[in-house]
Amino acid sequence: MATLLIAEHDNAGIKDATNKALTAAAALGADVDVLVAGQGAKGAAEAAAKLAGVKKVLLADDAAYAHDLAEPLADLVVKLAANYDAVVAPATSRFKNVMPRIAALLDVMQVSEIIKVVAPDTFERPIYAGNAIQTVKSKDAKKVITVRTSTFAAAAGEGGSGAVETVAAAGDPALSTFVGEEVAKSDRPELTSAKIIVSGGRAMQSRENFAKYIEPLADKLGAGVGASRAAVDAGYAPNDWQVGQTGKVVAPELYVAVGISGAIQHLAGMKDSKVIVAINKDEDAPIFQVADYGLVADLYQAVPELTEALGK
Ligand SMILES: Cc1cc2nc3c(=O)[nH]c(=O)nc-3n(C[C@H](O)[C@H](O)[C@H](O)COP(=O)(O)OP(=O)(O)OC[C@H]3O[C@@H](n4cnc5c(N)ncnc54)[C@H](O)[C@@H]3O)c2cc1C
Repeated sequence: MATLLIAEHDNAGIKDATNKALTAAAALGADVDVLVAGQGAKGAAEAAAKLAGVKKVLLADDAAYAHDLAEPLADLVVKLAANYDAVVAPATSRFKNVMPRIAALLDVMQVSEIIKVVAPDTFERPIYAGNAIQTVKSKDAKKVITVRTSTFAAAAGEGGSGAVETVAAAGDPALSTFVGEEVAKSDRPELTSAKIIVSGGRAMQSRENFAKYIEPLADKLGAGVGASRAAVDAGYAPNDWQVGQTGKVVAPELYVAVGISGAIQHLAGMKDSKVIVAINKDEDAPIFQVADYGLVADLYQAVPELTEALGK
């Protein structure tokens, strides 16, 4: 028996979250096969086959998997799951949509956002917005697991020589239909894999100020842009920039929090960052308790100065 890892990919290649989830999947101790479900996804399957430690790649190339609809993918995985002890995926937005369906269809519990594999049936996962770590032992014969990628190192993208095997699509249960999508295009690194992130909070006051103050600093640093929920809810920043308990969980080398108070729900998404820099005009702001470097200053003065000091 073995573990099936569902790949996060863009058809042409594999996303970093897959490499990280692979490290967790490998820790279960069994062979790891990777499922690449998409349309025109041969490139992604070939990249997955090169991942160190992958035994086999299952490529399901079909129009049913072209638009990330959860229902057809869940049906496919349930069909394939007969051959596996565990189904693993990174805890990305896509798989937060898919994995609970798979668990329900298999009639097992989902073990969500594991941060450590203690044993093949025992895992650590954060609860209460990361304020406590729970050890979970699952008696289910089949495990359905999502992986908090920020806590696992990425498996090497080279060195593997897995075989690529084509699998038939499971058909479309027609429970949902793709209508359209608006994809935010950005040259900036994706938040969950960015090495540096500059985030703005409610103190930014407007979308224009994000563009004027946060984005130029991020671009100088080659950073991704994040935001607090307060900034997102106020419409200053798009939804997919949100960092925190109900946003993305990130752990970059450097996290710069600008005008963010440091509520526990925000900290839950960024406190594992290697170096945290906070700029806040309130010296008692809780963000300073987790910051490695703190600057008590008005962001509207400090951020342009910092951006300027970084040069071209
Ligand atoms: C169930 C639940 C889930 C949640 N999930 C999330 C989540 O995923 N992510 C998240 O971020 N929040 C989340 N929240 C909300 C969270 O509790 C806070 O409300 C939010 O993080 C506050 O955002 P903020 O720090 O930008 O705003 P505020 O708390 O209003 O802080 C603004 C900060 O800016 C500073 N400031 C103001 N003006 C300036 C200036 N000119 N220069 C410098 N500093 C200045 C202030 O001193 C203050 O510290 C959640 C809440 C709940 C209940």
